[in-house]
Amino acid sequence: MTDFDTVVVGAGSSGCALVGRLAALSDESICLVEAGPDYGPLVDGRWPAELLDARRFPATHDWGWFETRDGELRRESRAKVVGGCSAHNQCAALWPEPAELDAWGVEGWDARSVADSRRRVDEAVAPRPHPELASWQRAFVEAAVAAGYGDSVGPFVANVRDGIRWNSAFAFLDPVRDGVTVLGDTVADRLLLDGDRAVELVCSTGPVAARRFVLCAGTFASPGILARSGIRPAGLGANLHDHCGMAVSFAPMPRAADALAADLECGTFHQSQVVLRTRHLHVAPFHSRTDDGWSFGILAFDLAPRSRGRLEPNVDPLASPTIDFGFLSDPADAPVLEDALGVVRAIARRTPLVDLVAGEVGTTLTGYAHAVGTCRLNEVVNPSCRVRGTSNVFVADASIIPTIPRANPNLLCFLIGDRAAELIAAT
Ligand SMILES: Cc1cc2nc3c(=O)[nH]c(=O)nc-3n(C[C@H](O)[C@H](O)[C@H](O)COP(=O)(O)OP(=O)(O)OC[C@H]3O[C@@H](n4cnc5c(N)ncnc54)[C@H](O)[C@@H]3O)c2cc1C
Repeated sequence: MTDFDTVVVGAGSSGCALVGRLAALSDESICLVEAGPDYGPLVDGRWPAELLDARRFPATHDWGWFETRDGELRRESRAKVVGGCSAHNQCAALWPEPAELDAWGVEGWDARSVADSRRRVDEAVAPRPHPELASWQRAFVEAAVAAGYGDSVGPFVANVRDGIRWNSAFAFLDPVRDGVTVLGDTVADRLLLDGDRAVELVCSTGPVAARRFVLCAGTFASPGILARSGIRPAGLGANLHDHCGMAVSFAPMPRAADALAADLECGTFHQSQVVLRTRHLHVAPFHSRTDDGWSFGILAFDLAPRSRGRLEPNVDPLASPTIDFGFLSDPADAPVLEDALGVVRAIARRTPLVDLVAGEVGTTLTGYAHAVGTCRLNEVVNPSCRVRGTSNVFVADASIIPTIPRANPNLLCFLIGDRAAELIAAT
């Protein structure tokens, strides 16, 4: 059996940032346990092309889990690889407004207290605007300007470097890899406890012992590791939420499809690179290649959803937990989505979009893949991220976010890893 000072479970957005900061703060021994593969440092050249290429939207390296809604199962994407969701996401890199962090009311997590973490993340990631837009995106921007949204629409700032999706492993883990034991292809099941202390992590490849354990397995998986360990503090799995939205699909005219085929040919077939941001909405075009040709759409998301759902962990760490976002369970959310639909249709009626689509073909209620909240700060974990009722078990990932800010959460997850490392090292 190997002994470490700290075992970190989950090498995702938060986990790699946490390990990077913890390694910089001390010479403790650190073991990073990840269910998916570890392709090593970027310079070794072993990373699969679809994870590196920021223009692609990879379907590989996914847990294959499902959201349950109205008795139906819908795919809910989560990455299973070192780098976590930052290794297959859309690279939109936005910060919350400082006032949104202040509004959490959690000691040590207000904008001022996390300012150094934010600065370190900005330095490691260096987000910049997407340089080139696909034809559908250019048309969306022009139509949005024509509809009066000229001040609010433009390219997303993105964590992309030289076309590479700059995931958390490249930004935070590679600089400290020499001092860290990374166990890839290793699924964490549960912790063994001695009173309020965890002593060992039971994994698919054998037990790992440590002085402290930090769970960074994400909103859907960290609660399961706690529950299977017999640790069930009040609020575990509750407060699950995501930015909820509408996907409006359009039938493309042949020349619009031809333009996207040309984008694909000359390497400008980008996805999710522009957004219209209002205070309470994100509105963005999407396009994809389907078996039948091309699919066009516009997504519109409520940035301040009031509805809350629940996650029920699974006894099997590989199987999907029951994920119920409770979309529209709060009556305040439906009028926001009605408003969102109005904005989408106003844009679609303007040139050049109006000339590119043959008509609207349907609307679907959808999430934004921004699940948070199942191990809420100040409830399931204390402000230092320690799980209530335990003395050496911590959670530091998207699950601790009490209320999702009006921004895509990946940068915030990097910040959570960095900030939690400082708080945990100080305990
Ligand atoms: C398809 C998609 C697109 C997105 N696009 C954007 C975007 O453009 N911009 C943005 O800001 N946000 C985006 N997000 C959201 C953002 O990527 C996530 O909020 C963020 O990555 C969550 O970080 P995390 O550290 O909490 O979890 P993750 O990054 O998911 O990391 C969790 C890690 O733990 C591992 N793990 C889980 N269970 C176990 C176990 N039992 N044993 C061992 N390891 C385990 C996982 O394999 C994973 O590597 C997107 C998300 C998805 C899914």
